[in-house]
This record gives sequence, C-alpha cells and structure tokens, in this order.
Amino acid sequence: LPAIATVIGSGTMGPGIAATLARAGTQVRVYDISDEALARAEKSTAFAASVLDQIGGDSAPGGSVSFSSDIAVALDGTEFVIEAVPEKLELKKSVLAQIEGLVGADVIIATNTSGIPITTMGEALGTPGRFIGMHWSNPPHLIPMIEVIPGEATDAAVTDRLVEIVKAFGYHPVIENEIAGFVENRVLYAILRECVALVQEGIVTQEALDTCVKWGIGYKLAVVGPMRLLDMAGLDIYQSVSSYLNKELDASTETPSVITESIAAGRLGFKSGGGMYDYAEGDVDAKRADIVAGLVAVRKALSATT
Ligand code: NAD
Repeated sequence: LPAIATVIGSGTMGPGIAATLARAGTQVRVYDISDEALARAEKSTAFAASVLDQIGGDSAPGGSVSFSSDIAVALDGTEFVIEAVPEKLELKKSVLAQIEGLVGADVIIATNTSGIPITTMGEALGTPGRFIGMHWSNPPHLIPMIEVIPGEATDAAVTDRLVEIVKAFGYHPVIENEIAGFVENRVLYAILRECVALVQEGIVTQEALDTCVKWGIGYKLAVVGPMRLLDMAGLDIYQSVSSYLNKELDASTETPSVITESIAAGRLGFKSGGGMYDYAEGDVDAKRADIVAGLVAVRKALSATT
C-alpha cells in the first residue's frame, strides 16, 4: 500500500474512500475546494470509520486522515492520488492537470469517474500512462469491489500496481476494458430498466417487485455470480428460456415516464423526502441506518464464504 495517498474531492464518495485506505494503514490527505465540504467530510469520514469498526477485521497501524483546503499541501509527498470531483469532463480535466503539476513523475493518478472515458480524461495529462480508472461502488467503505479501467494510454505496470493496491486494502479488483457505463452500472441499469417497466405496466406492485428481487435474485446473486448461476441452472435451460424470453424484455432507450413524471413533481427520492415511496419525518434516516446495518451484516456473512 502507498504510505501516503491523496483524495481530491470530498463529497459523497471521498470520505468513505479515505476511511477505507486509512484503516489499511495509509496516511490519507483529503482536499476539497469547499471548506464547507471539508467540514462535512470530517464527520462523514469518522462515521465511515465507525462502520468499518462494525465490520471488524484487521485495522493496520499508521493510518490516518487529514483534511486540507490547500491542494499543494494535500499532494506534498503523496504516492497515489484518487480524483473524486463532480462528474464534469472540463472540471475533471483541469483538476487532473493541476494534480499532475504538483506530484512526482511516478505517482499514479486514478479517477473515480462513473463513466467518462478514461482515454478522453487522460488527454488532460502530459503523461497519460500514469492515469487509470478506479471506480468505487457507493458506499465506498462498504462495497469491497473496485472496477479497474485502463485507458488506451495507461501503462500496463500502472494497471498491475493498482490491482496490487486494491488487493492490499482487502478489496476485489475487477479489470475491464473501457466501455460506456463500465460493467457494474451496465448490469445494474439492465436490471433497473426491466424492473421499472414491470412496475410501470402494472404487472407487479413496486413493493412486490422489491420483495421479489431482494429475496429472489438479489439474495442469490450475493452468493453466486451470474456466470456461475448459468452453470447452476444449466446452459440448456438458459437457451430454452432465453429463446422466447429475451425478445419480451424491455428494450426502450428512453428514461421511463414514471421516473420523469416523478422528477417533474419534485419527487427525487431520499433527498427530497419522497420518490418511488413516500417518507414521513425521520423515515429517510431510519431507512439509511437500516441499509447500512444490512450491508454490514451481509458483508460479514459473505466474508466467511469464498
Ligand atoms: P459530490 O458532488 O458529492 O462531491 C464532489 C466534491 O468535489 C464536492 O465536495 C466539491 O466541493 C468538490 N470539488 C468541486 N470542484 C473541485 C475542485 N476543483 N477541486 C477539488 N474538489 C472539488 O460527488 P460524488 O458523488 O462524491 O462523486 C465524485 C466522483 O465519483 C464523480 O466522478 C462521480 O461520478 C463518481 N462516483 C460517484 C458515485 C456516487 O454514488 N455518488 C459512485 C461511484 C462514482
């Protein structure tokens, strides 16, 4: 693991990333352009660290997290940089160029972009060989899988080193070729498209759909991945079902109207107190706590399996 690492941007993702690396023994420096975001990040990093304590497992000595509104201070002596600023190409390009100007030539610069092509972002750098995608899944301190996405210019040694780093803090690295949405979100969005269509068409209530997916395929897929599931089911079974079912599945390319109409009515989900479901005062906080407790419990249980 790098002795010193820097996280640039401390909004939703930065704090959990910092807490995870610190627990593994790295001195993490967090930088944000906003003092307010840094103050919030101090609290959310402490919260993420407490969640990591609940999961248990090893905590390496020497780890720490410090916060700075001075990017030069945050990057001084760093060995590894993770960029997690908002998903805007021009902003990311200018931040990356700024980072490159302040770090040594051998420092790996990784981006947590959700889908901007790595090759395009890398054009902002003088040495794009050091640049790579490192896509954490939200919440980053709880989901122990990271998509590693080399761009066309990324050095093979940088990919190897990032895989080593990810393994060193106990996460599962997944190497991919560059593709829109990367792998995890492509699979998620394929599932969400069908789920929203089934609810919108009135085939199933949303409560029943959630039960079906959580206790059916969700529970099963947490234990056995889709490719292994094919073996479990039998490829011949998949052939006979997919031969009539695939053409029935939703294939629309637009966002479904049930979603756009909710947004137009100001219903965005947890952040606006209502979305697919209604939330009374206190419900959102209770739901969030419930989700964290569930993820901690399942992660502990799954850690005991292969
Ligand atoms: P966010 O908007 O919550 O936080 C971004 C932070 O960057 C803010 O605190 C902002 O003040 C700061 N920032 C803005 N300009 C900056 C600059 N020039 N220098 C330093 N900091 C600056 O965003 P987020 O949800 O944490 O996402 C960060 C990145 O991670 C994005 O690329 C996003 O696509 C990706 N990502 C997000 C999620 C998610 O679920 N939120 C999951 C995976 C990946």
